[in-house]
Amino acid sequence: TLAAHAEEKLLNLYSARHYQTDEALYANFTKQTGIRINRIEGKEDELLERIRNEGSNSPADIFLTVDAARLAKAHEMGVFANLTSKSLESRIPAHLRTEDWFSFSTRARVIVYNKASVKAADVQNYEDLANPKLKGKFCSRSGSHPYNLSLMASVIAHQGEARAEELARGMVANFARSPKGGDTDQIKAVAAGECGVALSNTYYVARMLRSTKPEDQKAMEKVGVIWPNQNTTGTHINVSGGGMLKTAPHKEAAVKFLEYLASDAAQRYFADGNNEWPAVSSVKISNPALEALGKFKADNLPVSNLAMYQVKAQMIFDRAGFK
Ligand code: FE
Repeated sequence: TLAAHAEEKLLNLYSARHYQTDEALYANFTKQTGIRINRIEGKEDELLERIRNEGSNSPADIFLTVDAARLAKAHEMGVFANLTSKSLESRIPAHLRTEDWFSFSTRARVIVYNKASVKAADVQNYEDLANPKLKGKFCSRSGSHPYNLSLMASVIAHQGEARAEELARGMVANFARSPKGGDTDQIKAVAAGECGVALSNTYYVARMLRSTKPEDQKAMEKVGVIWPNQNTTGTHINVSGGGMLKTAPHKEAAVKFLEYLASDAAQRYFADGNNEWPAVSSVKISNPALEALGKFKADNLPVSNLAMYQVKAQMIFDRAGFK
């Protein structure tokens, strides 16, 4: 019966994360609580589509994904349940949570440049990417990608739409080629000299830095990494996170799981699995690749603001011809 199902010690987790360390992360939860985790993995957008299609019959208790844009989309679709948890509120800083979803790790969007063809002094800020000095040098992934949409959303929040559009148009004017590929492709193209400058999330940089492949090591010798906007708003950060579904059959287990993800041990696994920073600031990690990147001033714009300006960000990219 339905009631028996609800009492079963089970949690259905829809997750767009699939890292080696996640095994230990989930096993530890089951050990602590006796709640078995039934994990359904998929691509970020596919999982959300699946939840939409399943509707009120969805077995999903938790939806975990990366990027504020996708979490915002889930919120817009009304799939998350409002959740008050003293534990989550005390552990996760206010700017990294909303009323229905929570960030568990952060990643920064940095500037990577070719040390032979671009001067570090010329690429200290996101705004510099629009400087005509960089004509024919800027490479990017698609403007429709959530990582770029969230960055543009932060620019809108800080500087308004007009300045944001100026930036988008300037970036397009500086393109070395039409947008294509992912962040790692941009790093490699910068190393190869095909582009002078690009944007990347930090964990892709960390992955390249930690790579044992000689070609990756050689590539990273050619590439410099900049924390943008250190003298102004700080470097844009994005998040991975999740929330409990409104239709969750196992709500008690779901809350326990989210609270568990904010615990010290879980935070370490969660962040380290993808070379990210824990959302809970008191949690210390030791990750050589992140340490090699050094300290930086992060933009503390609330994630809800990133969410709020997604649609405007897409419209600006469209108007600017940033495909
Ligand atoms: Fe990614």
